Amino acid sequence: MSGAVNFKKCGSVLVTGASRGLGLQIVDSLARGCFSPGKIVATTRNPASTQKLQELAEKHPNIHIITLGKAEKNHDVVSQESIEKSVEEVGQLVQEEGLNCLINNAGINVVADFQTVTAEMMIENFHTNAVAPLMITKAFQPLLKRAASRGGAGGTGSMGIQRAAVINMTSLLGSVELNWGERANNLKWYPYRTSKSALNMVSRCMAVDLEPDGILCMAIHPGWVRTDMGGSEAPLSPEESVSSLLSVIGGLTEKDHGSFLNFTGESLPW
Ligand code: NAP
Repeated sequence: MSGAVNFKKCGSVLVTGASRGLGLQIVDSLARGCFSPGKIVATTRNPASTQKLQELAEKHPNIHIITLGKAEKNHDVVSQESIEKSVEEVGQLVQEEGLNCLINNAGINVVADFQTVTAEMMIENFHTNAVAPLMITKAFQPLLKRAASRGGAGGTGSMGIQRAAVINMTSLLGSVELNWGERANNLKWYPYRTSKSALNMVSRCMAVDLEPDGILCMAIHPGWVRTDMGGSEAPLSPEESVSSLLSVIGGLTEKDHGSFLNFTGESLPW
């Protein structure tokens, strides 16, 4: 059975980068499904310009839109002030139940190869894709810990989204091992690839540090998907990718803590 049903046992899910692409689809699929969690917190850097998300929130009262990141600058998902403000708002929303599932989805692809890459491009991509998920998770840790301490649905104390989990949306392109031989001749994107390798290491480090609190942490690749980032040639629709992602994320247990998984559920090499 699809693990997505476990979202029903989940009091709250927060998704970053919910204005469009995979983030918007995650919010949409969670809200529509018969497994909808108690509260869906959708973050965006500019709520006023996200019409589709606004429409969804009007239809589904369990969607709460929160600002995270600044609209003026392209690399401000990590604005500490904005992160802290969002933690306060989410804290008011979830109260003593805490936050069950944090999905660090927001990301960018600064396309550049060996010839065109600059220091600024590297830093911008690293900032949004690796630094922001770390700083966001750090700031939300007290809320995740609060949820984890309640033991999850039925108070069983086992790891999973029904208790507390951090899901980092990474990419196959961040795999160091897979960037070799024939595969390495494609998509020579220095900023993006290295930012996702760094995110993978951040995920692994956080898995070590969050384990004592019972917070599951892992990294997942969504497949190659038809979004603004993935482009129109991609084989997967956002619906297909997210349906599979939610099934895998919903079914995560202790054995998946610290893992790097494909959207189909198989392990990927670091
Ligand atoms: P997308 O369509 O380009 O959407 C990216 C989302 O991230 C948007 O909501 C965007 O908000 C937000 N975002 C980007 N930079 C931000 C910043 N500095 N501050 C706040 N929000 C920011 O991308 P996607 O395809 O949905 O990708 C989602 C995640 O999946 C990314 O982490 C990506 O690396 C990963 N991924 C995607 C694919 C694929 O094939 N699509 C493959 C592997 C991994 P705005 O609307 O405000 O810009």
